Amino acid sequence: MAQIINGKEVSAKVRENLKKETADLLESTGICPGLAVILVGSDPASQVYVRNKHLACEELGFHSFEYKLSENTTQEQLLDLISVLNKNPKVHGILVQLPLPDHLDEQSVLYAIAPEKDVDAFHPMNVGKIMIGNYEVLPCTPAGVMELLDASGVEIAGKNCVVIGRSNIVGKPMSMLLLQRSGTVTICHSKTKNLADICAQADILVVAIGKPKFVTADMVKEGAIVIDVGINRDENNKLCGDVDFESVSPKASLITPVPGGVGPMTITMLMKNTLRAAKAQNGIKD
Ligand code: NAD
Repeated sequence: MAQIINGKEVSAKVRENLKKETADLLESTGICPGLAVILVGSDPASQVYVRNKHLACEELGFHSFEYKLSENTTQEQLLDLISVLNKNPKVHGILVQLPLPDHLDEQSVLYAIAPEKDVDAFHPMNVGKIMIGNYEVLPCTPAGVMELLDASGVEIAGKNCVVIGRSNIVGKPMSMLLLQRSGTVTICHSKTKNLADICAQADILVVAIGKPKFVTADMVKEGAIVIDVGINRDENNKLCGDVDFESVSPKASLITPVPGGVGPMTITMLMKNTLRAAKAQNGIKD
């Protein structure tokens, strides 16, 4: 039976360290990390995410700047706000909560955020830096997965790593991070042939597709490490991952549950990026 990777525990530990680091930074330099979150419209899920980010700021002692804009906000108004925040020295990280209403152009909004304040790591400059391996910020979910693997003492070098999913937010950066740690990485997606056979070769299997319980025991090698990024609802409206936990966990050596696995890491990594950005913008080495 697999050992369960407890994302809540790992996240709490990382937050404890971040809180201490933040207090030290404030005491020694007077700098308090600041995160600005912009929400356009009233999507209920987005409102919950924004609230959780605000609470995380409070917990760690960050300044939290919240901008709740109306559904009818124009592109120009949104870009103007980003431009003001780009220049505000108290704001070290800027996050625009996605999805944006249809009339707004998501790409130009994300590209308008100053790369050094882009704590989601979506700006092409930061994406390019991740490719090169010389980065300050990492996309939060893949960074959270790496933190979980490290906390579990997983050696990545030389391992067969299979990532299912190639989104810009999860699959692609996830693959790059595993490659940088010398994993032998295969990226699978909706057009991949023989998916089950490829997955069955994986020492480390990361699944980010958004399909409830898609990965079943026959797709998993005995003793594999299985990381489930998916957040879905099953037929009973219960939260579940992309992995069929019940059938896969007896075969895996380590596995993340849903909920309580990768999920709790994402906002924590956003906080880590913001603290790192605050230091970098003030010329403080990490
Ligand atoms: P996405 O829809 O942008 O991408 C899905 C990817 O899965 C695509 O690249 C597609 O090619 C691949 N795919 C789809 N069907 C497939 C199939 N049958 N076989 C193989 N590949 C297939 O999704 P995303 O934004 O990367 O998110 C993936 C999942 O992760 C979702 O459930 C999402 O809710 C979850 N997610 C969780 C967190 C977190 O904090 N835990 C963060 C982001 C996303």
